[in-house]
Amino acid sequence: MPNSISASKETCNAPTSAQNANSLNIITPAKIDWQLDDTGKPVPVSGEFGDVYFSHADGLAETRHVFLTHNKLPERLAMLNPKQCFTIAELGFGTGLNLLATWELWRQLRQAHPHLATARLHFITTEKFPIPLTDLTQILALWQQRAPELAAPISQLLATYPPLIAGCHRLNFYDDNLTVDMWFGDAAESLGKLANKLATQLANAPAPYVDAWFLDGLAPSCNETLWAKDIFAQVQRLSHPTTTAATYSCAGIVKRGLKEHGFEINKVKGFGRKKQMLTAVMTDAIESDEPHSNYTNHPDGTCHIPSHSAVIGAGVSGLLTAWSLANRGIQVTLLDKSAPLAGASGNPRALLAPKMTPIHHVDEHLHTIGYLYSTQLYQLLNKQAIKEKTAPILEPTGALDLLIKANIGTAQIADYPNPMATTLSNEQAKKTAGLIEQDLSENLYLPQSGLVNPQALKDIILTHPLISFQQVTVHEMSEADDEVGIKGHNQHKESISIAADNVIVCAAFESHQLDKRIFDCRKIRGQLSWFTPTPEQYAKLPKTPLKYSGYCTPFTAQVGDDGLNNVETGQPQFLLGASFIRNDIDTKIRMDEHQISRDKLITAIPEMEAIIPTDMSGWQGRAGVRTQTPDYHPIVGQLNDSRRIWVVNAMGAKGYAIAPLCAEALADMMIGTFSPLSAAMLARLSPNRRRLQAPLT
Ligand code: SAM
Repeated sequence: MPNSISASKETCNAPTSAQNANSLNIITPAKIDWQLDDTGKPVPVSGEFGDVYFSHADGLAETRHVFLTHNKLPERLAMLNPKQCFTIAELGFGTGLNLLATWELWRQLRQAHPHLATARLHFITTEKFPIPLTDLTQILALWQQRAPELAAPISQLLATYPPLIAGCHRLNFYDDNLTVDMWFGDAAESLGKLANKLATQLANAPAPYVDAWFLDGLAPSCNETLWAKDIFAQVQRLSHPTTTAATYSCAGIVKRGLKEHGFEINKVKGFGRKKQMLTAVMTDAIESDEPHSNYTNHPDGTCHIPSHSAVIGAGVSGLLTAWSLANRGIQVTLLDKSAPLAGASGNPRALLAPKMTPIHHVDEHLHTIGYLYSTQLYQLLNKQAIKEKTAPILEPTGALDLLIKANIGTAQIADYPNPMATTLSNEQAKKTAGLIEQDLSENLYLPQSGLVNPQALKDIILTHPLISFQQVTVHEMSEADDEVGIKGHNQHKESISIAADNVIVCAAFESHQLDKRIFDCRKIRGQLSWFTPTPEQYAKLPKTPLKYSGYCTPFTAQVGDDGLNNVETGQPQFLLGASFIRNDIDTKIRMDEHQISRDKLITAIPEMEAIIPTDMSGWQGRAGVRTQTPDYHPIVGQLNDSRRIWVVNAMGAKGYAIAPLCAEALADMMIGTFSPLSAAMLARLSPNRRRLQAPLT
């Protein structure tokens, strides 16, 4: 039976050595203990620290008093200019109550103040011991009863709550113009990864800053890690001259930490029975006030967020870049010499299944974190597709990797949370795959994986009111002080000139022709093959996407698919991929590459020899040219010596997994908000990185 306790955040009941837990980047989930509060209601307590997540008197009222009122959020948020972004950073996500209270305030303000329609809220939070979804659901169910105004944010948060994996998980709630970045891991490390102006060195782009801090560590007597010098040093690094901070704690370590790191502190009345709490204002910021800064109350608030961007290239990189910019209120003109998805991104289906890495690298593994973000984005867009009665963007199929060409074995897969990655028993794997003879005891099963329908994704993106597509072959880009000029011709050979605030080149291997400073990447031809199986063949073919040295999957053509590829709506197909031919940009279909894909499948799964037809004359195919850098990382960022030219390209064969997150990072860099990618990762993706200084040999 739980004990009845009377606790506030300043009393520590059972300090443990939890501070020492969590090594090698593997996240330790929080252990929740349940106790009874003064009124006999069950309340969660951190098992690691023996401390309360929120005041047992009234946690929500305490949150509103300490963090919202004493950071002056109601006033400051109401004063935001159109398109301006306000950034809050929190130490200790815990149960998410602070986020939920802030979210609810933001919704109320947006309803009451129409001028906030395009303003944005960015909530960055850190958590070393994230609460497992089942416990969080139980905890938040209590708040749903007690505070019905939180019901909508609670259900949206629970629906998108990420797996307990180290690193940044970005959640976008488009209806509320709210972005939440949850950094799982030690707060000092996570804050250290946030890229500010000094880290990105971008010309003509505003710097990201935190506007308000929620210092919500446990009582310093329970856990000093959130009140340590390295934390305060990060808080100072990421603050601007009018950044505020609030905390319920008045402990000496907190006062000293804030004062020694540039804050002027002020004691005010605490919540409930607590006499005092602290508010603080930055008076000694490390980075000086930049003329382009976008932070709160800047006299011209919005002027440095571009109003109009041109995106060249309407493949997956260009479409997702347009999407991220448009969701920040920027008008986008999307240009392509052909129709959208006419190039390598226009396959009938794309399998969303990353090549996994051992878990201690996961937070810096773009393919995996990109997969987590894109799966979540496509699931969200599926809801829009349901409303608009169009084909789903992501068909959730799961995927089975036979670990033939993988960086990870079953022992390392076991480190991942099962809902994200697991190993099925041989019997289960055979049943899932629909195979009879093959030994599948070594496998990686990705339950959240699925098939992306590129045509459906493109259709949804192009319905965004701020995105307009024009078919234009671009010949020239010129950069002036206050704009870029783009010249080209349309499909009727008429000359076209477009002026924009900036341009993002997403033209894959042709990007180098548009600006010689963009790396001339490796060009790799890839052909995908598919055929219409007979009912007898279909019954014996794999039932789920399989990965080996290639991949294969069944799919059924949806309405609209025939706009891109030769398929008949409603007809089952079987797809095999793909060839990789270096330095070849021809896109004609080749019979010998159908054969290559067939051979890969049969080598991996010999029982398919009798099922996959040998006569491939009726097979369909699509060949495209993939673009790859020598270090295999994509190119994302601003060109050196340029103030208005940006690049997103070189996704190789991973575009549908990584382009959505790369596009978010680019849009953040451009408008001066914090990126979901670490400073180190942004450096690895930079168009100006050292590896791209010498041409390919
Ligand atoms: N804001 C939370 C809420 O709304 O429920 C309550 C936060 S609780 C008082 C403090 C949180 O800090 C706990 O969830 C704890 O696991 C987390 N924490 C403790 N040490 C940490 C560290 N070094 N880095 C990140 N989080 C930490």
